This record gives sequence, structure tokens and C-alpha cells, in this order.
Amino acid sequence: MKLIRLSAALLSCVLLTTAALAQSKAVADLIITHANIRTMDEAHPRAQAVAVFGDRIIAVGSDAEVEGLRGPNTRTIDADGKLLLPGFNDAHVHFVSGGLQLDAVQLNDVTSMDEFVRRVAAQARKTPKGEWIQSGDWDETKWPGSPLPTKELIDPVTPDNPVFLSRYDGHSSLANSTALELAGITAQTPDPPGGTIVRDTQGNPTGDLKDAAVTLVEKVIPLPSHDQLIRAVKRALEHAASVGVTSVQNMDPEYADIAAYAELLQAGELTTRIYAAPLITQVDDQVKIGIRHAFGGPYLRIGAVKAFADGSLGSRTAYFFDPFLDEPANHGLLSDEMQPLSLMRDRMMKADAAGLQICTHAIGDQAISMILDLYTEVANAHGAADRRFRIEHAQHMAAKDFDRFAQLNVIASVQPYHAIDDGRWAEPRIGHDRASRTYGFRTFLNHGVHLAFGTDWDVAPLNPMLGLYAAVTRATLDGKNPNGWFPEQKLTVEESVRAYTMGSAYGEFQEEEKGSIIRGKLADMVILSDDIFSIEPAKIRDVKVLKTIVGGRLVWDASRTVPYSSGN
Ligand SMILES: [Zn+2]
Repeated sequence: MKLIRLSAALLSCVLLTTAALAQSKAVADLIITHANIRTMDEAHPRAQAVAVFGDRIIAVGSDAEVEGLRGPNTRTIDADGKLLLPGFNDAHVHFVSGGLQLDAVQLNDVTSMDEFVRRVAAQARKTPKGEWIQSGDWDETKWPGSPLPTKELIDPVTPDNPVFLSRYDGHSSLANSTALELAGITAQTPDPPGGTIVRDTQGNPTGDLKDAAVTLVEKVIPLPSHDQLIRAVKRALEHAASVGVTSVQNMDPEYADIAAYAELLQAGELTTRIYAAPLITQVDDQVKIGIRHAFGGPYLRIGAVKAFADGSLGSRTAYFFDPFLDEPANHGLLSDEMQPLSLMRDRMMKADAAGLQICTHAIGDQAISMILDLYTEVANAHGAADRRFRIEHAQHMAAKDFDRFAQLNVIASVQPYHAIDDGRWAEPRIGHDRASRTYGFRTFLNHGVHLAFGTDWDVAPLNPMLGLYAAVTRATLDGKNPNGWFPEQKLTVEESVRAYTMGSAYGEFQEEEKGSIIRGKLADMVILSDDIFSIEPAKIRDVKVLKTIVGGRLVWDASRTVPYSSGN
């Protein structure tokens, strides 16, 4: 009896609370009105207004519906009819390199050797003696004859600095003599497994190092200081906000990078959400802590590992079943992590047993196939689970493997900008048949494979408009395929935006938290200058981000001249 009375008392208490809540009208911190909203919520694809309380969306609907949540202190953004989308989630970035690169020498648009040398010389003049000059993102296909640059070119203008300039795909780099010396690389140094020291006719290193040989120099380069790191992350955060990227998935960060994110998070200055996937070579560390996939909070998560299966198409180190057409003795290189294969298998087994998510870089069709084999073995060994294996890039697919992707529920983490970049020169290198399954986004969707869009920044620009433009038009950067390179692989604007929002969120186990404009989700949104759903697809690349909102905070406003640093 007593028990029943108590329950009744409890019940009336609950009722009272609900009634009180209903009377004191819910109030929004922020209301966005007059917007053309594409929610990416299939049940309610369009809306006009959205209300935010704290860091969450509390209502989505018409202006009139949301108006009811206005209180005396509610801030308002009048979107003036502009397109509002969920914030973009870049599924594959190198965030700190990106930040460092914003201040580094830019060589990607260099079209002659003279210009190459001039820019390196200018960078050397503003770099303190002894400090490394790095990055660059050069692309030899953009200058006449396409010879690789050599140390002889840059030695005369860099007497006081070690120099290590990366090709834009990150799979080869050019060292000057000082850098080679510091790394102890001479004519006698053998090629490491999975790498090549490019040599002249006398056998002397030219300064060019490919794949695993790159690490011979990388390992003597000091890590950025704490201050350099914090500065780089802040630059990267500002840049991300300015292009509407509200979440990134950070591949192979150093632990010090994650520490920098954590420091900025604590200071309230992290304005992009980050999911970090350290190298699988360090898998023991995350296993030891006992964390699982997507461990952390809304701004910073870990619990994934990043593995490498092969190299890149550009460096002819992507691992194919058949040789390159223009280099018949070469069908690519497996990474050192794959040699022997049991090394990779053991690490993957360990990661999966611990509940960590596995993201593997695989570009050539044979590398992709081998990783699918390993994923199958891992899944068979440990039984059914929602593990969301990923293949990063998934560039050149064997026809038989699309089905396997779907059956294993492997996420294709792809970068559409690479398609319109590589599309300039890929076909002579691999032939028509293989090219027809290159960046096969439509084929992936037809097979029911989850697509997650990203950029691989700083390998490609971070701006999502370029990725959307690339996926929708497949118009190569050289203007030679205005109707699309393998146009049957084009996606619609809707499908592309979905892959860049919901698709990427799924790729990091966060589809319940972000990726669409739905009540209860994190308030991450962008307002664009033009309606990419109605303008000509060719114009999508020129569209600007007017406002970026992360967790209800305005972190970018194009109408302001200075970027927001934090706290808005
Ligand atoms: Zn990458």
C-alpha cells in the first residue's frame, strides 16, 4: 500500500514537471529564418527555419513554426533565402600538415623549373638558418617534359637550410644535399623495402625519394615545436570554418597533434570537430588504454587506426594486378606495413579485437583486393559486429570487388577532387578498362556501398565546393572533359552533399549526432552564397560559404573582414 502511494506521488511529480515545462515556453538561443534548407533528412527533406538551444537543434520547420521559440534573448540570423545545409564533414584530412602548409612554400601551380627554384629561394630567405623547409606539393606533370626536380636545382638557393619538398600526393619528396647528408643517404645506401632512392646514371641520389624511402629523411626531421603546432592547428581551424567544414577525420596524426587539439578544446577554441586515426603501427597504445571506436566527446574522438597498403597512382606505386601501361615492368609497391602480409594481419586482428575502427589506405586494385581479403579474415575470426571497416581512396577497383565492399559493409572513403585531377593523365597510365572503374562513385552507390567524401587535405584543397563540383561534373582540371571523365560515374548534387554530410558521419559512427538538420542533432550548419541544387553544375566550384555554425556558435561570417578566432 505504502509502495503504491509512493508511486502515485512520484507520478504526480512527473506530471507537474511536464506541465510546468509546457507553461514556461521553450526558448531558443538562436533562430535562423528565411532559409532554403536541405536537411538531408529523408523524411523531411526541405525546411525554412531552424532553432538552436545550446549546441543542439531543437526545431526544424517553417518560419512560423520556429518563431514560437523566440524569447527576449534569442539571436536571429536572417538567411535571406540562401541555401542552408548541414556542415560539411571531411572524412580524410591531414589537419596539422594542412595548417603548416598554409604558411609553407607553394609549388603546386608551378609550371616551370625556373619558377620552382625562384619560389624555393624566396622561402629560404624568410626561413631562419637551420630550420627545415618542407611541403610544396609540386607536380612535375605541370611543367614541360615532366622531369622530376633534382637537388642540383635547389642546392644553390638553399645553402643554410635542409629542404624536403613533397610531391602533391605525398608519395615522393625532393631532398637537397643538406637533407640527404643529415639522413645519411649516399650512393651506397640501399633502397629500403617498399621504397626507391632515385639515382642518376652514376648511381648517385638525385634527391628524389619514393614511398618508404621518404621516411629515411622524415625520421631525421624534428617534430614541430608546441608553439608551431598550436599555430598550425589554429590556422587549420580558421581555414576549415571559412570553407564550411565543421567536422574532419584526421588520418595518421602524431600524438602531439591530438594533444594540441585537446589543449584547444579545453580552452574552448576548437571550432572543428575532429576524429583522429593514429597509425596502425602504434595500435598497441590504443589497445592498452582500452578505448573503442569513436571514443571521446562531440569535439574530439579517437579509437580508429590508419593503415597503409600501397602507394599512389601519381608515383606509380599504387599496387595493381597488371603493370602500368607506360612502365611494363612495374605494377606498383606494397607498403612496408604489408611486408610480410602477416604483419598487417596481426595488427588488424589486434585492432579489431579491441573494438578499434580500421581505416586502410589502398589505391591500386590488387592492394584493395588484399585489404578486403584481410578484412574478411578479421571479420570471420571475430564474428559479426558493426565495425565499419574503411578503405581510404579506394581508387582503382577490380570489377569483382564492388560486391565484396557491400557484403563486408566497407566504407569507401573517397576524395572526388582527385578524380578531376588524376583524370588529366590516368588513362594512358592504366588504360581504358581500369580507368572505367577509377573513382567509381556511381558504381559504389549502385552496389549499396556507403560513400564518405573528403579531400585528403593538404594533398588537395579543403574547400568542399571543389569536391561537390568534381563529383557532379567529373570535368578534369585541364578542361579536356567538359562533359565528364567517365561521365557515367557522375553523382547528383543531392547524392554528393549526402556523401559529404551523412556519409562521412556514418564513416565515423556519428550518424545519430550529425550529418543532417534534425531536431536533437548537433547544430552544425552552413549557409552558402548560391543554391548549388539549381545553379549550373560548372558554377558550383565558385560558390562561397557565407556563414559556418558549429554547435550553435557562429565560427565564420563572410560579411566580417576578420575571421572569428573563438568563442562566438
Ligand atoms: Zn591521406
